This record gives sequence, C-alpha cells and structure tokens, in this order.
Amino acid sequence: MKHLKKIEHLGIAVKDLESSEKLFTALTGESPYKREAVESEGVMTSFFKSGPNKIELLQATDESSPIAKFIEKRGEGIHHIAFSVDNIEEEMQRLKDLGFRLLNDKPKRGADQMLICFLHPKDTNGVLIELCQQINLENE
Ligand code: ZN
Repeated sequence: MKHLKKIEHLGIAVKDLESSEKLFTALTGESPYKREAVESEGVMTSFFKSGPNKIELLQATDESSPIAKFIEKRGEGIHHIAFSVDNIEEEMQRLKDLGFRLLNDKPKRGADQMLICFLHPKDTNGVLIELCQQINLENE
C-alpha cells in the first residue's frame, strides 16, 4: 500500500480571492467549483479543477491566520502541497515515528470534505506538506 497516494491539490496563498479567482478562471478556462470558509484556519478557500488536478486558493480572513503570516513573510505564492492518504491517523503516526514533526496532534477538519494534518516545513525542505483523508460522509 502506498502511504502518500497522490498529490491531492496545491495550495496557493493569495491576497485577494476575488481577483485571483478571475485570474485562475482565465488561466484554466473553468470557474471555481466551490468556495468554502475554514474558520479554524482563518481562511476562505476557492477550488479549481484542471483535469484530474485541484488547486486551492487561500485568502486570510483575519490577521492571525497562517495565510496572513505567510504572505507577510514570503508574499503570495505556493503555500502547500497536499497528499491524499487512506488513513490519516496511521500516516501521522508513521511519519512521527520517522522523526517528522506534525503541526497538529489530531487530524483537523479542512476544506472540501477532508481531514487534514500539516507537517513542519523545517523537516520537509521548507515545503509545507498537508496530509488529507477524504471524509466518508456516510459514516458521519
Ligand atoms: Zn490544502
């Protein structure tokens, strides 16, 4: 069994979601298929599809949001790479055992029906990695 199955999406930090949605609509030829607030992260997200691939635009909704801090430090740009996993708790334990630091101890609820966990970017060549497991709505 593969641990990180595939790149689920790329996250891009943007200052102004509305103008970035226009930009990505022009770029991909598709409108965003959903907008969703993630209050725990202080972000509004907007999702685009490009064939089988997904792009998540993230705009901070308050100053303490990790996205606001990221943009302050590094400007707009690629914020994270998300990988899909079958069992997020098992993956978190496996990676922890390998010495990776996790930014949250328990999976959190992310956008687009996902349970998520971030790895510390200092352990992953400066790239913020997100694990995500699709939430099975029937089991909720
Ligand atoms: Zn993401």
